[in-house]
Amino acid sequence: MKTVCIMGGGLGGLMTGALLAQEGYRVTVLEKNGIIGGGLQSFCRGGYLFDTGMHIFGGMGADGQLRRICRHLGIEERVEVEPCHVALLNADTGERITHTTDCHSPLIDLLRGIAAQEPVYALRPTPDDFTPPDITLTAKQLIDETDDQPELKAAMASLALFYGGRDDSPALLHALISCAHIDGTYTFKVGSLGFAKLLAGIIEEAGGEVHCGEAVTSIETSGREVSAVRTATAVYTADHYVNDMPVARLLELTPADAFAPAFRCRIGSAPYSMSAMTLFIGLKPRSLRYSSEACLALRDGIDPWHMDDCTEELWPNALFAIASEDAENTGFANTITAVCPMKYDYVQRWENSITGHRPDEYYRWKERMVQQALAMTETIYPQLKEAIAFVDAGTPLTIRDYYGTPRGAMYGLHRSSINPMQSSLSTRTRLGNLYLTGQDVNFHGLLGTSLTAILTAEAIVGRNVIMNKLIC
Ligand SMILES: Cc1cc2nc3c(=O)[nH]c(=O)nc-3n(C[C@H](O)[C@H](O)[C@H](O)COP(=O)(O)OP(=O)(O)OC[C@H]3O[C@@H](n4cnc5c(N)ncnc54)[C@H](O)[C@@H]3O)c2cc1C
Repeated sequence: MKTVCIMGGGLGGLMTGALLAQEGYRVTVLEKNGIIGGGLQSFCRGGYLFDTGMHIFGGMGADGQLRRICRHLGIEERVEVEPCHVALLNADTGERITHTTDCHSPLIDLLRGIAAQEPVYALRPTPDDFTPPDITLTAKQLIDETDDQPELKAAMASLALFYGGRDDSPALLHALISCAHIDGTYTFKVGSLGFAKLLAGIIEEAGGEVHCGEAVTSIETSGREVSAVRTATAVYTADHYVNDMPVARLLELTPADAFAPAFRCRIGSAPYSMSAMTLFIGLKPRSLRYSSEACLALRDGIDPWHMDDCTEELWPNALFAIASEDAENTGFANTITAVCPMKYDYVQRWENSITGHRPDEYYRWKERMVQQALAMTETIYPQLKEAIAFVDAGTPLTIRDYYGTPRGAMYGLHRSSINPMQSSLSTRTRLGNLYLTGQDVNFHGLLGTSLTAILTAEAIVGRNVIMNKLIC
């Protein structure tokens, strides 16, 4: 039996591991945190259950890509999701901005046409003569220059929040995100961690192992191959190695000569996607009516391509909020999670501090930001103030320390149409038995990272091997 060692037990590592386990590989996953999942992790605080980084996603419609992957893995019936409409609101007034995506419109037709050019998104085998789609057209250009209803154009531009879009972001990336949402948005019924556990179960049932609290501390190479992976307590060897850690972290842990200086320099200077502050709000029982609708709210007149661009005093510019239902009091909300784009620059002055040991000044700043974010959340949920029982928050430093992502980036490396090669990564590396997976490669999020995992697994098992099974 061929063996695979996966560094990082986030969605990318677990999904790649599950796909490989299905192909007969024995997989070992090494995860630094005490619990698996990375962005799939859920946590309990103040008696409430919150998800950390997987609130809504696409691909779970009747024939959606993610549903077909789950079917292939034999877990379709056990993944409990529910549809979730995303409403667009004015964050200053709480007013709903009406637009429609259920008709043919020039912009939606163009976005669909662009998304269809990406074989992995369409779950199509990649032809031998495949030429990657052009990514020099930016999303902003596409939206600005397409003649369509202004409300629809504004709504489509606001989806930039779901991938940290900037004015140089490729139209292709925007098209993939938009189409996934237009085709139906979903949320996990009971916490995203359950999905991570299902994937880990597939790995374990096939004879593999998932180790938590096992941070990779160094990666040894011999010639052009990885020879071993070390943690503080053990040495792991395998036929193949897959990296799901942020790529910048992989480079820190490998010997200087393992990668070309030009590659190190390119990734070392690549820009990252935006960061955020997340509010985790626990509610008093039966105090706020539950709605399965999530809200995307932008302040009047803000530039959707620079949602995090404002002074600390005026922050936040935008917010994404979603409620969970109280299982004991159906019809009422139990929690609200609100994600507000935030510049890493705000917290850079404390970047040498560690979780639980940050200076008082940081906590005072954090409290001020929490109050500002709460004020915007109250515009969306007018009865919120009286309903709050508990509030906690994560800042860009929390994301940085928890995921290990440079600059607390929500979605890993930033993709640019102006310099597309700078953050372009292949699933294969210069080291013959080392492969890359996770959100730094290609796409992010539940759907995107899962699609990339297919490409990573196929780099090991053979081109289109898994894709051909998915289309059967
Ligand atoms: C606040 C927030 C909200 C988000 N909301 C959504 C959403 O609603 N929908 C959506 O689709 N996406 C969302 N995302 C993005 C989504 O969470 C990510 O795209 C996805 O989790 C990426 O998976 P990954 O495996 O690439 O990375 P991760 O989940 O970060 O996994 C990487 C893993 O590597 C581990 N690791 C790092 N260093 C080491 C080491 N030295 N040794 C061992 N392990 C290590 C980390 O602990 C982590 O578990 C959100 C992200 C954030 C931050």
